[in-house]
Amino acid sequence: MANRGERILPCPGIETFLDSHDDLYLLPIAGRDQLCVKAPVGRWVWSTLNGASVDEMPIEVATEVAGALDWLEAETYVRRESSVRSPETDRWDRQVQWFAQETGEGPARQHRLLDATVLVLGVGGLGSAVADLLARAGIGTLVLVDHDVVDEANLPRQQLYSLRDVGRAKVDAAAERLRSVAPATRVRQSHQEVRSAVDVAALLIEHDPQLVVCAADRPPIAIKTWVEDAASELGVAVMHGGHRPPLVYAGPFFVPGVSCCYACFSSARTRPGTEQLERELASARDANPPQLPAVGWGDAAAASFIVGQAVQWLGGVADSALLGRELELDLRTLESRWVDGPTQPMCLRCEGIATSSLRER
Ligand SMILES: [Zn+2]
Repeated sequence: MANRGERILPCPGIETFLDSHDDLYLLPIAGRDQLCVKAPVGRWVWSTLNGASVDEMPIEVATEVAGALDWLEAETYVRRESSVRSPETDRWDRQVQWFAQETGEGPARQHRLLDATVLVLGVGGLGSAVADLLARAGIGTLVLVDHDVVDEANLPRQQLYSLRDVGRAKVDAAAERLRSVAPATRVRQSHQEVRSAVDVAALLIEHDPQLVVCAADRPPIAIKTWVEDAASELGVAVMHGGHRPPLVYAGPFFVPGVSCCYACFSSARTRPGTEQLERELASARDANPPQLPAVGWGDAAAASFIVGQAVQWLGGVADSALLGRELELDLRTLESRWVDGPTQPMCLRCEGIATSSLRER
């Protein structure tokens, strides 16, 4: 802290209060003790936190103030401005404050998001909500993939579209909307139907994302297998989510070499002796997908959990709670439960399992 010139700010989540005796209190919002810098140094520290320079104080005061600031920094109640805020990340200031609160490195975490590429496969109910939140969070590049066009019946659930978009390719309407609300995000669109793992692999090779959000549901089972086959081969993480009325689910999130794979996750919940039946059922569902009920608030709920975990992981803020498992939420009761993946690796693809998903990105 002794270095001069850089502004010192309270850490995110720390409220400052100067009482009538000039004692300065630093009050954490939750979970930590309050600290007090007694008068008269309290007032000088308070003025420093509000923009006054230590350099302009009388030398005997400056030394005491610098000592108090060193103590507060060591206790992580104050920080240098550059760790809390930067001009390039001002737009996301409130989010950056949260990153700073969690990691001590606000702008650096936002820059990770700005450097990231996420491919959203399917921009229907779930995918359009996911794309909207990712763009607003400041993901640098978003790739939207969908073959569908906007129908008037999509408007009650699919939040990126308006009446004038009816008949347009969803990816075009979505890209236009996202560019208008998140100009810092590069949006690429691909108006195509994915029909195989080869198609998915071609998209991953072309766009080189760190993460794929699988929000497509046609064909319902095969699409997940294609994405998983291509992504695990190319070392790309995959986030799933969607509707299983009246449940919505977020995850599972698969990171090659870190979590279990999709095949292991699925087979772990197949009852012994029913494998053949499950395969036939999956084929039947893929050939003739059931028209399941869906509601906009279900998509929004799943999207919020998915994007929150994706941002946390991409920004290096924390491991994802969805790694190798799924959160189910009952929309009626708001009860939730975890559906865990296998505790042991079950296949060659899963070998090399590790304990953290925070790989260097
Ligand atoms: Zn596996």
